[in-house]
Amino acid sequence: MNTFKMLQIPEAQRYWIRQARVPICFLPVAPKTDVDRDGAVLVDLLVDQDRIAAVDPAGRTTSADLPAIDLEARHVWPTLIDMHAHLDKGHIVTRTENPDGSFAGALQSVAQDRTQRWTAQDIKRRMEFGLRCAYAHGVAAIRTHLDSPEPDQAQRSWAVFREVRAEWADRILLQAVALLPIDAFRTPYGAELADLVAASDGILGGVTRAVGGVHGRLLDDIDPLLDTVLQLASERGLDVDLHVDESGDPAATALAHVAAAVLRNRFKGRVVCGHCCSLAVQPEEQICRTLDLCAEAGIAVVTLPTVNLYLQDRRGGRTPRWRGVAPIHEMRQRGIPVALAGDNCRDPFHAYGDHDMVDTFRQAVRILHLDHPFADAAAMTGPVPQAIIQAGPLGTITTGGPARFILFNARSLNELMCRPQSDRLVIDRGRQVSAELPEYGDLDGI
Ligand SMILES: [Zn+2]
Repeated sequence: MNTFKMLQIPEAQRYWIRQARVPICFLPVAPKTDVDRDGAVLVDLLVDQDRIAAVDPAGRTTSADLPAIDLEARHVWPTLIDMHAHLDKGHIVTRTENPDGSFAGALQSVAQDRTQRWTAQDIKRRMEFGLRCAYAHGVAAIRTHLDSPEPDQAQRSWAVFREVRAEWADRILLQAVALLPIDAFRTPYGAELADLVAASDGILGGVTRAVGGVHGRLLDDIDPLLDTVLQLASERGLDVDLHVDESGDPAATALAHVAAAVLRNRFKGRVVCGHCCSLAVQPEEQICRTLDLCAEAGIAVVTLPTVNLYLQDRRGGRTPRWRGVAPIHEMRQRGIPVALAGDNCRDPFHAYGDHDMVDTFRQAVRILHLDHPFADAAAMTGPVPQAIIQAGPLGTITTGGPARFILFNARSLNELMCRPQSDRLVIDRGRQVSAELPEYGDLDGI
């Protein structure tokens, strides 16, 4: 009998979720009780309206007067954090395909789609579709990059973002990063954009691209450009979030330059580097040197395994030889915070995806070997990005925090990994989320 299907979230203001299995990495305060082989504990969660009133070891508290559901040792996670997305280009794949699935093809297709079709209405419609997917899947916070290569587009996209951020504020915490090739900071537009970002309460970003597109050496003036980005951010009190070395070419070594720039400028804000793929194909000694520098500079890394697997090492008619991902085990061993995120969704950079962090986790475990043991791998979907993007208590399960959970019909991480968890229950403010995944038909005519 499928007792999970029969679960009814109580209507009461206060109720217990009993025998919930929670990985301790999601619990800022770990209760004193046995830890299973997946690093999870059995707890009883007391929900009081929209908050968590208690996280107790299972079976210790008896207040039989309150309604309760019994999860019979199934997993409960907090709603998760996707700290690197591209909501502005999502879901354009059906109208503007990547001709060959390559990185160069993606750049070209997106530029074409953006210049011809990104009206405010178009961007908003696709962003909302993405957010509806994310919310139904149990995502609580998203940091999205916004293509901002020239003033008109930037003004339009950021205006839509500010509107959407306000409309979704009660369901998904939204942050945005300005995205453009770092060369643009040679011109006065850099300061103009930094002003727009500051006025929008955003984050300054950029792509540390290489000369001649995807492959080849770094820009000759990468160091002064990084200095400019950090100075513009510093003057306005902004954090920085960069796309770094999204390439399989060992000559892409911008990560070390970013770390050196942070130290040279004594930058006080937070710095995130996304991707860092090419680090994995550099000599071991160079990897160690760069990572030591990143640790010293306090840089956080976000890895985007599904998109790296899709884009890196792709050449027509040839089987890929590497997975495209950054050496994140080595980063974590040095204490560098590493988060997992979804990146592109149904656009020319990645044809697939559904804004589902549970799917991202399940794929990441396989691509990055986050298992045997799982240890605290799940932290990369909640507490780690929460600390990096300063998302308050989201992505954790803590007394006084929001009653936002994902309930799984899985008693172990193996069971959670082996099925897509399409039957998960998402709880927001103590109530079951009734919103369903949007129909693809909602995008017809875009
Ligand atoms: Zn990205």
